[in-house]
Amino acid sequence: VPIAFAQFLEDFFEQYSLKMKERGFSLSLTVDPDSIIIADESQLKQILNNVLDNAMNYSPVGGVIRVQLTNEREQVILKITDSGIGIPKEDIPHVMDRFYRVNKARSRFDGGTGLGLAIVKQMVVLQKGTVTIESEAGKGTTVRLSFPSVS
Ligand code: ATP
Ligand code: MG
Repeated sequence: VPIAFAQFLEDFFEQYSLKMKERGFSLSLTVDPDSIIIADESQLKQILNNVLDNAMNYSPVGGVIRVQLTNEREQVILKITDSGIGIPKEDIPHVMDRFYRVNKARSRFDGGTGLGLAIVKQMVVLQKGTVTIESEAGKGTTVRLSFPSVS
């Protein structure tokens, strides 16, 4: 189904930003309005939930989570950036593997199973998209999702 991604995000965050606020985080959302993709809305929500859950779990309370939607040629790009603990370089290639978790002792959160990003990866691929992670230990993490745009 074609989805107006900008509108979808604005609707999604109307609810979700309240949940973020309850947990002590604030949202910075910027969207390019002309971003149409073909995707399943419930899977998109699951993707966002898992990525945003990580952004909060692996960041000190009080942080800003930045969500940016842009168009780049044939792709619609969604970047979700936190300023949390980051991921060491050597772990980045593995964090989307099932059950992989970075040294639990480092984070204030240790209740995870290590499946969130594996599910994200699987769902993004089902939507014909790609997911990449850029991160620097101690600085923060950006999850970059890319979907083919409909023009
Ligand atoms: P689950 O999501 O199943 O509850 P989880 O959060 O441990 O558990 P993933 O979401 O797959 O599992 O993430 C895997 C690991 O990658 C995490 O345990 C954490 O070490 C690291 N990680 C993921 N996102 C971030 C982030 N935004 N900042 C820092 N580390 C992260
Ligand atoms: Mg997780």
